[in-house]
Amino acid sequence: MEKKEAEELKKKLFNQKQNGWISKSDEEKHAIFDYANGYINYMNQSKTEREIIENSQKIAESNGFQSIENYDSLKPGDKVFYNNRGKSMYLAVIGQESIENGVNIIGAHADSPRLDLKPNPLYEDQEFAYFKTHYYGGIKKYQWTAIPLSIHGVIVKTNGEKIKVSIGEAQDDPIFTITDLLPHLAQDQMKKKLADGIEGEDLNLLIGSIPFNADVSEKVKLNILNILNEKYGVTERDLLSSELELVPAMPCKSMGFDSSLVAGYGQDDKICVYTSLTALMNIQNPTKTAICIIADKEEIGSMGNTGMESQVFDTFVSEILNKLGINRPNLLEKVFCNSKMLSADVDAGLDPIYASVSERNNASFVGRGIGLNKYTGARGKSGASDANAEFIAEVRRIFEENNIRYQIAELGKVDVGGGGTIAYILANKGIDVIDCGVPVLSMHSPYEVTSKLDLFEAYRGYEAFWKNA
Ligand code: MN
Ligand code: MN
Repeated sequence: MEKKEAEELKKKLFNQKQNGWISKSDEEKHAIFDYANGYINYMNQSKTEREIIENSQKIAESNGFQSIENYDSLKPGDKVFYNNRGKSMYLAVIGQESIENGVNIIGAHADSPRLDLKPNPLYEDQEFAYFKTHYYGGIKKYQWTAIPLSIHGVIVKTNGEKIKVSIGEAQDDPIFTITDLLPHLAQDQMKKKLADGIEGEDLNLLIGSIPFNADVSEKVKLNILNILNEKYGVTERDLLSSELELVPAMPCKSMGFDSSLVAGYGQDDKICVYTSLTALMNIQNPTKTAICIIADKEEIGSMGNTGMESQVFDTFVSEILNKLGINRPNLLEKVFCNSKMLSADVDAGLDPIYASVSERNNASFVGRGIGLNKYTGARGKSGASDANAEFIAEVRRIFEENNIRYQIAELGKVDVGGGGTIAYILANKGIDVIDCGVPVLSMHSPYEVTSKLDLFEAYRGYEAFWKNA
């Protein structure tokens, strides 16, 4: 066989893996950069799960979605959402076809690793005031010292009044930080394992240093409480019923000389929230009912009434069945058994600096499109829902017919580690599920990196799934 023929044969038979930018025209690149600007803007207004839900509801409402509670009955084409305690949300566009044949779901999560304030956070030491924290999700603790942090969340008073807090983002706002030891005196610290260099109990936020002008003890603490009381009308006791989260006070931005990448906090998994939410806004009168999940608590195991393990999602789908006027015993279970889902969660992109933890043939590459994970889990796929080949073939068909750049990968080398998503929770209901999201570098760090190409392919891919599955 001639070399040229062999090259042709190779082209036909190989799964050619290619940088996604190569296939994009100037016009397409323009569309990608344009879409990324919207994403960056959304990210800079949405640092926490509560802010994600608030801003996502605004986007949904401006596109004709209404709370399902406003509807007595539903018909094809209706657009509804359910806001679950301001921390998770489900949206649906009712399909033309009988819902008994199943629904098409895409689900992402709005929570990201961070530092939460403890219930009794405030103390004074050596004339500094501090907030004690308890970290949320899987973090490398040393990454959270000596960076600017902002405080976001709510303080709820016993009369039900809810005070929203967001301080550290605006240009004129102060920021906060957790101090680290100077290298000159860090001999002992530097000898410790990276995991032990910073202790959880030492992640204390420095919040002030001016003493209250009176002869009392704990003057700096008193001064801080006085400021909080004047600004928010709260006392130390009100912090008992607060949810205050510390997140990096660093803006999400375009990255690189070519601006091809996005750097920002919380892209796991807000990038999949934004791409799936904006894709849903393009769905009008779908054949099958399209459902979008924005879950909470994924990073700590999906528990609680805003996490995916709760019954609230089932109740939402039951409400749709009720308001379509077709509900009957066991219909919900049947709907789930006929349904399909993309679990939209980020994937670990291969990082050339740390390539040794990845297996090149089965790693996701930043810039090669949306990444599918047939299974997650750790050591022998433990805990994974492991998508069925038949379903993967269908997702491939949809992506290939719509020219979506995709790659099928796993998280890292077999015995190196692993992870999980909400996929198994929905799969356990009988739904066909595969993980499908954007590859990320520096995942779970205060400043994660993604590719604008993958961002856009996720958006296009999710829309194609809802239109064609
Ligand atoms: Mn995630
Ligand atoms: Mn995560």
